[in-house]
Amino acid sequence: MILILFGPPGAGKGTQADYLKEKFNLLHLSTGDILREEVSNNTELGVQAKKFMDSGELVTDELIIGMIKNKIESTVNVEGFLFDGFPRTISQAEALDQMLDSSNKSIDKVISLEVDDKTLIERLLARGRSDDNEETIKNRLEVYKNQTLPIKDYYHSKNQLVEIKGDSSIEEVSSEIEKSL
Ligand code: AMP
Repeated sequence: MILILFGPPGAGKGTQADYLKEKFNLLHLSTGDILREEVSNNTELGVQAKKFMDSGELVTDELIIGMIKNKIESTVNVEGFLFDGFPRTISQAEALDQMLDSSNKSIDKVISLEVDDKTLIERLLARGRSDDNEETIKNRLEVYKNQTLPIKDYYHSKNQLVEIKGDSSIEEVSSEIEKSL
């Protein structure tokens, strides 16, 4: 099974991923988590990524696509993948389709978590990550609308998109997601 958790920062992608990966034995690939680990290990990739992350801009497609390719190719013994925070641009979405095509796989569902801006901002401010300050949050939501939201149409036109209301309790959202699969 190959799932994508889609939605703006603060929509609950990470929280739902924790549940879904256990339930379906999927490898959880969060590009944000992978990047933060690269930053904390001070790798070359981390150093390059950090300046984008600090300002809430997207890391370049080239770096992200290379990183995901490595992870997919080096993984054995999972029943599928759960992408979280990836893809974030149309180019990334197309690159993912190509990677999956070449191993005769395809995306089963793109789960879009729908949450209004006010709730997102409240959740992000409560979370308190270093890029969860008011200035950066504003930019991340802007970047989401301009660069990431167009992907919804891309997946909608391929009949892969489901929209789930993401502002109820964690358990209710999980159960709605399961019903949609
Ligand atoms: P996240 O944890 O998903 O909110 O990601 C934190 C930051 O990492 C983002 O603000 C971006 O700078 C960067 N990032 C994570 N995933 C991607 C991606 N797929 N494409 C580009 N940048 C990303």
